[in-house]
Amino acid sequence: MTTLRTRMPPPSDPPPGDAGGVLRIDLGAIAANYRNLQARLAAATCGAVVKADAYGLGAAKVAKALWGAGCRDFFVALIDEGVEIRAVLPEADIYAFCGATPETAAALAEHRLIPALNDLGQIEAYSAYARTPAREAAGGVGSGRLAALIHIDTGMTRLGLEAREVAALADDPRRLAGIEVKYVMSHLAAAEEPADPLNARQLAAFNDARARLEFGIDAPASFANSSGIFLGPDYHFDLARPGAALYGIAPRPGVPNPMAQVVSLQGKILQLRDVDSPMTVGYGATHRVRAKGRIATVGVGYADGYFRALGDRGHAYIGETRVPVVGRVSMDLITLDVSDVPPDQAVPGGFVDLISDRHPVDALAAEAGTIGYEILTALGRRYHRIYSHAAG
Ligand SMILES: *Cc1c(COP(=O)(O)O)cnc(C)c1O
Repeated sequence: MTTLRTRMPPPSDPPPGDAGGVLRIDLGAIAANYRNLQARLAAATCGAVVKADAYGLGAAKVAKALWGAGCRDFFVALIDEGVEIRAVLPEADIYAFCGATPETAAALAEHRLIPALNDLGQIEAYSAYARTPAREAAGGVGSGRLAALIHIDTGMTRLGLEAREVAALADDPRRLAGIEVKYVMSHLAAAEEPADPLNARQLAAFNDARARLEFGIDAPASFANSSGIFLGPDYHFDLARPGAALYGIAPRPGVPNPMAQVVSLQGKILQLRDVDSPMTVGYGATHRVRAKGRIATVGVGYADGYFRALGDRGHAYIGETRVPVVGRVSMDLITLDVSDVPPDQAVPGGFVDLISDRHPVDALAAEAGTIGYEILTALGRRYHRIYSHAAG
């Protein structure tokens, strides 16, 4: 644990300005996690999901670090997110889960984004755009077939072609005129629970749909998210789509996390207060002081993504000492009971570890009653951000 601490020392200088927290993002750890996942995939290629600003960590910086680690396939949700990646990675294959409509087809093609076509209507729209005379007459790069993913729903009931649409496409493959199917894809609903029978049912449904489609068996396939990679080689196919595991979230809850931690968050102590019974702390007076002690006020609140649900529930660390959040979480502030911390370790201007190797994203998420994904994507914009590039 001491070595972990020296890797992420508290900032020796206070952050510039009056930021109430310091967010460190270890790009070397993201690169190491990418290589770790690629090594587990044997024959398949590892892509990277960088939607939602790379799960809140900064899409452009994260994508460049992943490219440096060998990643060439990037997945986003929205066109704007794809455009941001295209600006920094002109050579990458960039896929957009949002699909294509008559309104968005031109923008997708212009930025060379590869949409996941999620229903027959989207296939029709993209095929129609691909075959427009204006596009064909333009010649050059833009005039060939347009690359797309065909997304088949195998049990998520969210996006993707349903069984009757797969049958209609199998009956009439001309619906795909002008489209080059780069991958057939589907998405797992319960991959983090290896024992859930839904995994095998989705795998069978995916293979069945691929067999029904003329192009489906020949076209490469993409199936596994982070947790799906850990379900074994049957789930790997040709291109994996991990997001969370790249950013340090445990792909298998309940077993030791094989991924390197990427994020650490320190909150700045603004004030210390000696307290005694019968004082109360914070809005609603939810915390009643029972004995002599000390309270530290820290400059991080729910506006920074430190969820209100952590009031009277969350924990942080100062040095070796675990300190509980007491009272409600305010918009800009939390209060911690630091009575057990040696007085020289809790000082105004000092720092508390809110997310650290000792108390990782998943542990904070559990205290908030949510998942690490939501903690990361909610990380606020007011922190002083430090990106480290150390090779992981
Ligand atoms: C978000 C997303 C992923 C990545 O999932 P993780 O659990 O973060 O690895 C993969 N595929 C699709 C379709 C997604 O929406």
